[in-house]
Amino acid sequence: MELIDVITVDGPAGAGKSVTTRSLATRLGVEYLNTGAMYRAIALQTIRLGLSLEDADALERVARESTLESRQGRTFLNGEDVTDAVRSQEISQAVRYPANAPSVRAILVERQRRIGLERPVVTEGRDQGTVVFPDARCKFYLTASPEERARRRLGELRSRRENAPFEVVLEQILARDKSDMEREIGPLREPKDAIRVESDGKSIEEVVSEMERVARERLAFLQ
Ligand code: C5P
Repeated sequence: MELIDVITVDGPAGAGKSVTTRSLATRLGVEYLNTGAMYRAIALQTIRLGLSLEDADALERVARESTLESRQGRTFLNGEDVTDAVRSQEISQAVRYPANAPSVRAILVERQRRIGLERPVVTEGRDQGTVVFPDARCKFYLTASPEERARRRLGELRSRRENAPFEVVLEQILARDKSDMEREIGPLREPKDAIRVESDGKSIEEVVSEMERVARERLAFLQ
């Protein structure tokens, strides 16, 4: 099997994937791909069009007819920058519908592969090292305890002037873990050949430095 110059970062919700992956991509000078934002954008567009999230055909149509682009770490839906719009509580709750729809996954996996084969990327999600890029040269599994992840999610919500009790956010994190891990297609799994990074009690800087060191060792073009 020929390995490809892609760095994958998988892990559960709130593990700090986005912030660390974005920073890692900047340090390495490669493109950053946030695949969660792609599923979120499909949920957003489905809601905007007034279609039912439970209608698998509608979800597939939305995925097929929407253009999704990733530029400098930002996500564009039909040309509109939706990076911030897709981070709301409403979309966090709705995203499981497109994420659990096999036809939507097939479309997005194909688009993610195309992006990863065009140029070197650091890509984050749930299935990047297992399904989308099983032959990536460098894989990470980034995780943290559910309580730590809930605290971070709450911090993020507050910075957006949204609020929720800690217990509710923790419950949502655990529910999302369950939904992500029990999905039939593209479930969250730790790739066998991934390096596990536990981020409890570590600063972003520490986590990114750990990842950068490994990435530079593994990818010849970064040395
Ligand atoms: O990472 P983020 O929380 O933005 O992801 C949102 C949701 O999208 C996740 O809960 C997961 O269900 C889904 N997702 C996925 N496959 C990916 C990335 C995200 O199913 N590669």
